[in-house]
Amino acid sequence: MRIGIDIDNVIADTYKDLNPYVTRYFGKETTSEQAIELMRDNKWLQLHYWFKAWRYGLPTTLSLIDGAVDTIRDWHNNHEIIMITSRLPIFKRQTRKWLEKHGIPYHELHHAKEKTKHTKAEGCEVFIEDNLEECEILADFCKQIFLFDHPWNRKEIIRPNIIRVKSWQEIRNNLSL
Ligand SMILES: [Mg+2]
Repeated sequence: MRIGIDIDNVIADTYKDLNPYVTRYFGKETTSEQAIELMRDNKWLQLHYWFKAWRYGLPTTLSLIDGAVDTIRDWHNNHEIIMITSRLPIFKRQTRKWLEKHGIPYHELHHAKEKTKHTKAEGCEVFIEDNLEECEILADFCKQIFLFDHPWNRKEIIRPNIIRVKSWQEIRNNLSL
């Protein structure tokens, strides 16, 4: 089976770890929604932030979400692991380095813009993702979607093949692989 997996806030505890940098960058405390909104309104700011993150190699410093590594290692023996991230392609090297550092195995790694992950998810029966909008799109292409629960995705789920989960253990309980 092909299993599609997002990286940020699914395997890596990105929001928690980068929040202090975001606060320092904006000069004030922001919620995840506010930070995303600020950057969406100002593409230059967004680009500048990502450039700084790249320059300091922030993606190589991220910590792990519990249960992700063991589960992916188990699955990797019998299934195809397809990582699909919406990180900019400039983070390709740092992303690979981080995966290697934590011994996270995978068969493919793709960088795709938000809302276009389905173009790389061909044949994935299962997808694990924390962006609800992305999940709603992926629901047309994958049989089963697991929405990794976070404060920013606590909205109503429309598609019946999306299940909200709070942990990797819960994903394992829902899938007998
Ligand atoms: Mg994510």
